[in-house]
Amino acid sequence: MIIQVPTEIVPLDTLLPDEPLLMMGAGPVPIPERVAAANSIVINHLGETMSQVIEQVKSMSRYVFQTESQHILGVAGPGSAAMEMAIVNIVTPKMKVLSICNGFFSKRLAEMAERNEANVVCMDVPDGQTASVVEVEKYLIKHKPQVVTIVQGETSNTVFNRYLPEICELAKKHECLTIVDAVCTLSTMPLDMDGWEVDAVITGGQKGLSSIPGVSLVAFSEVAWEHISARTDRLRHWCLDAILADQFWYKKAYHYTAPVSGILAMHEALRLICIETLEKRFDRHLRCSTAIQDGMEAMGLTLFVKPEARLNSVIGICVPEEIPANTLLKHMSDNYRVEISGSFGLNMVRIGQMGEQSHEHHLFRTLHALGSSLKTLGMIVNLPAGMAVLESKL
Ligand SMILES: *Cc1c(COP(=O)(O)O)cnc(C)c1O
Repeated sequence: MIIQVPTEIVPLDTLLPDEPLLMMGAGPVPIPERVAAANSIVINHLGETMSQVIEQVKSMSRYVFQTESQHILGVAGPGSAAMEMAIVNIVTPKMKVLSICNGFFSKRLAEMAERNEANVVCMDVPDGQTASVVEVEKYLIKHKPQVVTIVQGETSNTVFNRYLPEICELAKKHECLTIVDAVCTLSTMPLDMDGWEVDAVITGGQKGLSSIPGVSLVAFSEVAWEHISARTDRLRHWCLDAILADQFWYKKAYHYTAPVSGILAMHEALRLICIETLEKRFDRHLRCSTAIQDGMEAMGLTLFVKPEARLNSVIGICVPEEIPANTLLKHMSDNYRVEISGSFGLNMVRIGQMGEQSHEHHLFRTLHALGSSLKTLGMIVNLPAGMAVLESKL
C-alpha cells in the first residue's frame, strides 16, 4: 500500500464546540430531539416498516402542503435537488419558461430551466420588492410561457412574494404550469397548494420543517403528473426521474436506496407539525418573527426590507458599514454561541424564524447576542429598549 493512514485526524469531539451553537441563521435550523433520534436509525428500505413510514410521510405531507395530491415524492438531496426534480420533470427542452426572479434562489430555478435547454425569460423584480401581479401579467401576455417558476420567500435577500396566490391564479388563467419554491416558508406561513392550484411545490428538510438537511420533498399536482406521464422524451436525470421515484413512493419497489434515516427524521418532523397544527404553527411564527423584528428596530437597527415585502421566515438586518458582517458573526458565535448568517455580498446579516428557531427563549438569547455584539463592535444601540420591546410583543 502506498497511501498511509492519515496521522492528523482528530476525533469529532475535538472539532465540535463544547457547547452546541444555537443555529439561528438561514438554515440548517435546530432539530427537535425526536427528529434527531429518528435520524440515528437504519431500517430496511423496502420492508413493511418502511412502507408504513412512507404512507404516513405522504399523508402528513398532504396536510402540510394542503393538497390531495397522490404525487408527493421524496428525494435524497438538498432543497436544490427537489428544485431540480420539479424543473427537469416539468420543463422539456425548448419550452418557454417565465422565471420570476427576486434573488439568488429564484435565479437558481431559472438556471436549472436553462440548463434543461428551456427558453427562459427572467422577470427581474427590483431589489427589496415583492413581485407585482400587474408586472407578471405583462410578462405572461408578452412571452406566453408554458411554465412559471417563483419562490414564496427569497431567503437570500429576505423578500416575501406576498402576491403568490394571485400570481398562481393568473398563471393558471394563462394556462401555465406553476412551480413554487417553498423551501424556507413551508409550515411557517400559509401555502395552499390545491387552493392556489400550484402544480409543483418544493421544500427541503433543514428549514421550515426543522428536519435534517439532505432529504427533500416535492409535490406535483394531477395536471403536472399528466404532463409528466405524457412525456415521450427520455429524462437525462435518472435519480431525479419522477416516474422512477414513483416506483418507490407509490409501488413499494426499488428505485435507489432511500435515505432511510433521513426519511424517519422527516416523518418525525412532519408528525410534530401535525401535533402542533398548521394554524398554531403559523401563529407562533408570526408572533415570534414580528416580536424580534420590533425588538431589533427598538434597539436602533434597520431591517433590510420594508414591511410590505418583508419575509418573516428569514429576517435581513443592515449592518453599519464600519462593521464587517463577518466580524459580527464571529463575535456572536465566539462570545454567545449563537450562529446567524451573512448574506451573498450585501453588508447585512440574516436571522431565521423557521421551525425550532421560533421559540421565545431563542429569541431573547439571539437578540441579546446581536445587540450586545454590535455594541462591543462600536455601534450605538439601545439594548434594554430592544429587549423590553421583544418581551412586551411576545
Ligand atoms: C435554502 C433554499 C434553497 C436551497 O436549498 P438547499 O438545501 O441549500 O439546496 C432553495 N430555495 C430557497 C428559498 C431556500 O431558502
